[in-house]
Parts: sequence; C-alpha cells; structure tokens
Amino acid sequence: MNDLFVFLLMGFVLFGAVGLLIGQRKGRPLAGLIWAMVLGPIGWLLILLGPSRQDLNSTPCPHCGAALPIGEASCRQCGNPVRWLKRQAIKPPRAA
Ligand SMILES: [Zn+2]
Repeated sequence: MNDLFVFLLMGFVLFGAVGLLIGQRKGRPLAGLIWAMVLGPIGWLLILLGPSRQDLNSTPCPHCGAALPIGEASCRQCGNPVRWLKRQAIKPPRAA
C-alpha cells in the first residue's frame, strides 16, 4: 500500500511539473499546475487549448475581429466604437 502511495505521489509531481511548464508558456503557471494535478493529461490539454493570459484581457472586435483590449472605447484596427456588456464587446446600436 505504501508503494502505491509513493507511486501516486510521483505521478502527481510529474503531472504537476509538466502542467506548470505548459501553464508558464500560457502565462498561467498556477492554473497549469492545479489542472494537471487534478486531471493529469486531461489537465494538460485543458491548459494547452484554453485561453492564454493575453486572451483573457482582450476579446475580438465585433466589427473586424482584431484583438481588442477589454474596456477599450473604440477599435484600434478599424476605428469603430465598441460598447461593453460585462466583459463582452458588442456593436453599439446604430445612431438614428
Ligand atoms: Zn475593429
């Protein structure tokens, strides 16, 4: 039983270390560590396919699709005004 415990512990550390490395590349090392320890290889995939830190602070412009920093009043790419609903960019209603 003791061997099994050591085996599991080493798996945890190994999975966690790889998750940490993947998370670092995404700017989310702690999330990588935790997901990998809880879910193992599935956690790696979650971090690998999940949003990076940069993505979390920007969202596609509703007009042209360029990356738009959260809270920006207008798009730098196309110059169109942007309105925000929570953290979601929406097209402002057309002025009459
Ligand atoms: Zn735009």
